[in-house]
Amino acid sequence: MNSWDVVVVGGGHSGIEAALASCRMGLRTLLITLNLDMIGQMSCNPSVGGIGKGHIVAEIEAMGGGMGRLADQSGLQFRMLNTRKGYAVQALRVQTDRYRYRDLARRLLESYPGLSLRQGEVVGVEVIGGKVQSLLLHDETRISGKSFVLTTGTFLSGILHQGFSTLEGGRSGDRASKRLSRPLSEDLGLQLGRLKTGTPPRLSGKTIDWAKLTIQPGDDPPSFFSGKTTGIFYEGAQIPCHLTRTTAQTSEIIRNNLDRSPLYSGKIRGIGPRYCPSIEDKIVKFPDRDSHHIFIEPEGLGIDEVYPNGISTSLPVDVQEQIVASIPGLERAAIMRPGYAVEYDFVFPDQLDHGLKVQHLENLFLAGQINGTTGYEEAAGQGLVAGINAAAYARGSSFWYPDRSLSYLGVMVDDLVTQGIDEPYRMFTSRAENRLSLRYHNADMRLSPVAIELGLLGEDQKEGFLQKMEEFSAGRGEISRKVIDGKKAIDQLKRPEMSFDDLFSEDSSALCSWPISWKIAFESEVKYEGYIQIHDSRSPLAAETIIPPSILQEDVPGISTEMMVRLRKANPRTFSDASQVKGVSPGALEALRMRLKRQK
Ligand code: FAD
Repeated sequence: MNSWDVVVVGGGHSGIEAALASCRMGLRTLLITLNLDMIGQMSCNPSVGGIGKGHIVAEIEAMGGGMGRLADQSGLQFRMLNTRKGYAVQALRVQTDRYRYRDLARRLLESYPGLSLRQGEVVGVEVIGGKVQSLLLHDETRISGKSFVLTTGTFLSGILHQGFSTLEGGRSGDRASKRLSRPLSEDLGLQLGRLKTGTPPRLSGKTIDWAKLTIQPGDDPPSFFSGKTTGIFYEGAQIPCHLTRTTAQTSEIIRNNLDRSPLYSGKIRGIGPRYCPSIEDKIVKFPDRDSHHIFIEPEGLGIDEVYPNGISTSLPVDVQEQIVASIPGLERAAIMRPGYAVEYDFVFPDQLDHGLKVQHLENLFLAGQINGTTGYEEAAGQGLVAGINAAAYARGSSFWYPDRSLSYLGVMVDDLVTQGIDEPYRMFTSRAENRLSLRYHNADMRLSPVAIELGLLGEDQKEGFLQKMEEFSAGRGEISRKVIDGKKAIDQLKRPEMSFDDLFSEDSSALCSWPISWKIAFESEVKYEGYIQIHDSRSPLAAETIIPPSILQEDVPGISTEMMVRLRKANPRTFSDASQVKGVSPGALEALRMRLKRQK
């Protein structure tokens, strides 16, 4: 009875996608998690998507996954980001009702007949001859399976910090997974490290002076991750976010209390996420900045509690109270849940292959924050890949290795397994050397054919996609024949200022009734075609091209601070040397290549 095709450990964002993928591929799947009530919990901010992250959600949606539709169906505010920039860097961000998200996630899992849920703590792993046979639960139940996916998030030997007070835990209110780190390192031979991340205090909305804040409305009309979503889940307007900022007084309070910070007193050893720094980090690292933005985000419909995005902290609670009171509009705001940092064990991901399988074990896959990433979307994307491959192993079919030239999923997996990590990994569009092709709006065209082949798409989604492709191809033929005001319509659409609707809004054909997402997908394809051809036909740069040291001191467009720090540290002499530097992404190398070519 306790034997399954695929066993997934963890009911976070990664575990959910792994279990859904395995089930959609027809495998009997069990998801084990510490607390069934917390499935799909958003440990930190109540939002899904954004630049890079939203691209991953679009890819998950294209492959029939859950995250996009769960975000749509619990969405309070929808914003397509970067609409003034090129299509390659646009993506959707959704503020969600975190309680509804969790509820829907659980219901979605339970709606699959082949998927079972089990509350319990995995404390041991039985391995024979390089193959995991079974998992041992805290209550001595043995669970066997053909393949296994571990997605333990921030829970492995988790410690929560608030000032000098510490508590064992996976996140606030949830106990840690204390007993699994040892078997992972001693019985499975995995190399583990330690990372940390933090979260801000949550505030009571009724104690905020809203008149002092700047309102941030959602898009009207909203866009959705899923083509199936028809509208927001409740009647009425979207719930806005609000904007405020820290003050000189905030900086002073933090500076005066740094000796009470577990980060700066050396109490926390784990390395934190560069791109979600704590407020104490921001004040120390950018001493010249007078103030930092804070977005006040709703936590749920009709819920008083709000999330002040931008003041993540592990300072003691009395200092958190002073910080909050120093911010315009929050002078009298009451803290409902204090902020804290969590330190946890992760597994160095260069021990995995491109299917997220542990290299030296036949049937164990790892996904999510356990692999050193940060963020719900990165976790969910890996869960999808690991779930597909665990299912493939269990049914005896070939693995799927996402290609980095075709997807952000591929970029992320390739970065993780070939470069490893030395700080929490977050997705950015700059990590992809092919980002002009990896657009939010063409995710389905890139990945749904693969999903159909793998058996991941439901009939409904599959039919919808095939019909879209048919209409798209007819539309493409029609547009390429069209002449407007004596000029070829397709050439006019290539001009940056010309939009699909500018050209075809008066059109009597089916084109003008295309959904907006199709119009953007078509328009961006036409506009980017020329650039992509140039990119693909670029002349190679000689490997022995010398890198003048001054270039490594510049702000080279397309090379992030993280990548530049790595390059500066290694100080490569030639382009070939730079390509050997550990942790430097192909995207950064491509930007360096372009910079070196410019100077020739
Ligand atoms: P999780 O969502 O952590 O889920 C892990 C699951 O595994 C849980 O359901 C748990 O019950 C289960 N589990 C663990 N061990 C066992 C076991 N032995 N047996 C059974 N079940 C087990 N992300 C950002 O992008 N930016 C941020 O600023 C940020 N800040 C954060 C701050 C805090 C304090 C925390 C806790 C998280 C933060 N995150 C942040 C991270 C974000 O929550 C994670 O990236 C994301 O939730 C990871 O998803 P996951 O599925 O890998 O793991």
